Amino acid sequence: MFYHVSKEDEYLFQGKRRRLVEQLKLKGIIDEAVLKAIEKIPRHLFFDQSTARPAMLEHAYSDKALPIGAGQTISHPFTVAFQTEKLEIKSGEKVLEIGSGCGYQTAVLVEMGAKVFTIERQKSLYDKTKLFLPYLGYKSVRFFYGDGYKGLPQHAPFDKIIVTAGAPYLPNDLLVQLKTGGIMVIPIGEGEQQEMYILRKTSDSTFERQVLGKFKFVPLLQNKA
Ligand code: SAH
Repeated sequence: MFYHVSKEDEYLFQGKRRRLVEQLKLKGIIDEAVLKAIEKIPRHLFFDQSTARPAMLEHAYSDKALPIGAGQTISHPFTVAFQTEKLEIKSGEKVLEIGSGCGYQTAVLVEMGAKVFTIERQKSLYDKTKLFLPYLGYKSVRFFYGDGYKGLPQHAPFDKIIVTAGAPYLPNDLLVQLKTGGIMVIPIGEGEQQEMYILRKTSDSTFERQVLGKFKFVPLLQNKA
């Protein structure tokens, strides 16, 4: 199911990852832990390797969104780095991720020291990523097949919440499941582009928000696929 990567491949990809990290720094990412995670994680192994493998490996470390199967894409490395940096993760924090996809963002969160709970609505991606991340060594992740709009009330509250698909509105259930003092990073908007919202919950019923830049995401869809 997974490709074997030789030592020479690893050497080549290590160099590509270092260059990607340099690009991310130029684009404004400063969190050393985020940069270190990206330098470490073999992004080229996360794509849908059943189609167009050589072409994709070629682009694995350019700042692009690429297909991962089920009509979905892995986010741009800059987007992953930006969202992660804005979460201000501290080791041991409980983080809810909506949209597991291929698990690349999940792996970055684990490298940051987070206890990750991740939800995916596409069964094929859920099945694949649930096997793939432990295979890479990320064994602590809790995977859920379900509708991210509803979050995981049985495991709430969360210190941080990250949404990796474009939401038409701010899902109230997610806000309820965020701890007071917690941060949620969520792209909001229904058109081609979304605005990145950074929300800090200040009490049971209040939050502060910052809107930082435009991004392109696949849509956050209702219900399980
Ligand atoms: N974090 C992912 C990004 C994948 S793209 C990665 O690094 O690969 C966004 C993902 O969100 C897709 O896999 C899509 O199927 C999923 N998604 C969309 N709507 C959802 C919902 N309501 N609940 C859970 N997952 C959802």
